[in-house]
Amino acid sequence: MQERVLQTCKLDSSVSEVRFANGKRLDGLLELGISTIRDLLEHFPFRYDDFSKLTKAIDLKIGEKSAVLGLIHEAKGRKLAKGAYIYEITVTDETGMLKAVWFNQRWLAEQLVVGKRVLLLGKPEHYAGFVQMSSPLYTLIAEESPEKASKQNQDMLFEQIDEGVSPVGIVPVYHASKKVSSNWIKRLVLESRELVSEPIDPLPARIRMKRRLVSRQIAFYGIHSPVHADALKDARNRLAYEQVFWQQLLCATAELRLQEGRTPFAHESTGNLTGKLAEILPFELTPSQKQAVSEIHEDMCSERKMNRLLLGDVGSGKTVVATYALAFSAQSGYQSVIMAPTEVLVQQYAAAIGPLLDKLSLNWAVLSASCSPSEKESIREGLRSGEIHAVFGTHALIEPKVVFKNLSLIVVDEQHRFGVEQRAMLIKKSPAADFLSLTATPIPRTLALTQYGAIEVSYLENRPGKAQTTTTYIEEAVSYRAYEAIREALKRGEQAYIVCPLIAAPKEDDDDEYGPHYLDELDTFEDTPSIAAAEVELEHLRQAVLPEYRIELLTSKVKSEDKQRIMREFKEGAINVLVSTTVIEVGIDVPNATVMLILDADRFGLAQLHQLRGRVGRGTAQSQVFLVARKPSETAERRLRLVQKLSDGLKLAEADLLERREGDLTGTRQHGVSSLSLINVIRDKKLIEAAHKDVRQLLEVDSELKKPEHAQLSHELELRRSKGR
Ligand code: ADP
Ligand code: MG
Repeated sequence: MQERVLQTCKLDSSVSEVRFANGKRLDGLLELGISTIRDLLEHFPFRYDDFSKLTKAIDLKIGEKSAVLGLIHEAKGRKLAKGAYIYEITVTDETGMLKAVWFNQRWLAEQLVVGKRVLLLGKPEHYAGFVQMSSPLYTLIAEESPEKASKQNQDMLFEQIDEGVSPVGIVPVYHASKKVSSNWIKRLVLESRELVSEPIDPLPARIRMKRRLVSRQIAFYGIHSPVHADALKDARNRLAYEQVFWQQLLCATAELRLQEGRTPFAHESTGNLTGKLAEILPFELTPSQKQAVSEIHEDMCSERKMNRLLLGDVGSGKTVVATYALAFSAQSGYQSVIMAPTEVLVQQYAAAIGPLLDKLSLNWAVLSASCSPSEKESIREGLRSGEIHAVFGTHALIEPKVVFKNLSLIVVDEQHRFGVEQRAMLIKKSPAADFLSLTATPIPRTLALTQYGAIEVSYLENRPGKAQTTTTYIEEAVSYRAYEAIREALKRGEQAYIVCPLIAAPKEDDDDEYGPHYLDELDTFEDTPSIAAAEVELEHLRQAVLPEYRIELLTSKVKSEDKQRIMREFKEGAINVLVSTTVIEVGIDVPNATVMLILDADRFGLAQLHQLRGRVGRGTAQSQVFLVARKPSETAERRLRLVQKLSDGLKLAEADLLERREGDLTGTRQHGVSSLSLINVIRDKKLIEAAHKDVRQLLEVDSELKKPEHAQLSHELELRRSKGR
């Protein structure tokens, strides 16, 4: 036990204690963010090369990484110009031969001698008429008895390999740098085992058993030097679980700290206000709105603090749902707040919700930067005394002078547009208040969990009472079909949008001046000449395609007052077609616009395309969206077809997330030292939910992690908290 404790402590010793981790290599490790042994062990491979299957010499494919086992038939070293040295061997198996060369490694002459069996791992190339591997990884294989060799038993083969020295089987590849190569990292990981061979596992045994997780040590072995695919899978599973577990534990404990032991609000489950609200609303709630309202109601009545995300496209009816939450708070005699990122949004909330609150005889106010000092003071007074039941505001709300009598509900619109600090400052005004976040960005629950910690998601599926929109991907060659559809719509008196990635065509010579200004959202445009530009498209439409209609331009280059005028005229129907960039993504609501053509659609992100198409289908008429692409890559085309197929924003986001980081175990990517480097939020859904649940249960039993069996857990948590991951 003593020994294990010591080893466990060693995890946090400097990585320089590992043999060979010195000089330039140590610098390299530090540059990669690796300063302790734990960091080293948690620097997981981002890829594996599978050399676990042997290839016969005759079957070698040029450029394809392979493993070949054979006899060294010839071997010679010679000097090249400028003191360089080349060592060359010829290896044969029963089907053929290949060459292998290394540079400046004179000691090879002693190891790789004629008559030895060697396993070579590398990429074969053609060189001077031979198949050759340049600087392959190699392993000498002990002589085998003939019967063993004939069985070709690979397991036996790998058992004989000195695994401490050379790679074999599934070879890990690490993010590395000039100063410390992937192979060196592999070597150092192996060396570190001298120092920590059996540290204490911080995960409580009951969780490990329940989730069938291998011990951390086995997992470290399995991820850094997997013997076979199953071992790798188990290892990854355990470590991925652990990543989410820590992240959830960090969030949840931070949340508890913020609450400072205060008891959450348990709202009364009955009251007259919500019934009245239903009566005064001019419409019935959609099924998904009803569902969301009841989920929020349940959360708010419970003794647990609500932390919920209300998700729905723009126009899906989140505001009404939030109004119910305000009513739940008020009918229990408490106060509530809605914070939105802009003055305009705050005014929209006030305009939509205020009149309803009036009818419920509730007092409300708007607190924003445009309030005069005396107005501000009287609102603050109303909040302090409890006279004001609900307040809408921008971040003006977080000023320290704003104090509430009994704030029980905090609603934040588009939370990602506020800093973590700003959000925390608002929450501090009533740390135990129920929290509701509204967003139009489709976030799968598991992504919300990993990004914001403990959170539930309510989802508004469809826009209430609106027509459906069809999305069609077409190749440029048949883009006339889209223009036909536009013409048809215009004939019916409807309107259309045409969206381009660029504002203007680039001019050849003054790149500096114009470069970035062409772009509203796009960040690269290497081959700009072929990308649709709004100004060019406008001329083309006016002169050649739809000369009989009024077509205007709306981009970020258009002057503000012109923009206002154009938007108004489009809304009034005086303008038939609006040629635009992504600026129309937000804020335009024209029910009569029924067709949208997105040019070079492969230049936009999926989320952006989804946002864009939300601009049509806002009335009762059937709407159409056309995505046109010139020569999309295979991936781009698949993504466009995804947008065509999935009209639901959340499903699209999920498919996108899965698509973008798809890959089986060995394809897992890692970006530096990210705390969730092993996780794909869609693929690992179950695992994320499991870790989330386990953390909750753990904290219910031992909220301060004071129990002796949680000592190691608590220690590591503090460590991770101080490192911020
Ligand atoms: P969001 O806040 O999600 O962008 P809103 O709450 O502003 O959407 O709703 C958009 C429009 O739909 C509003 O005019 C609202 O009055 C209307 N609306 C909301 N819910 C319904 C419903 N159940 N039936 C009909 N119209 C609704
Ligand atoms: Mg809204």
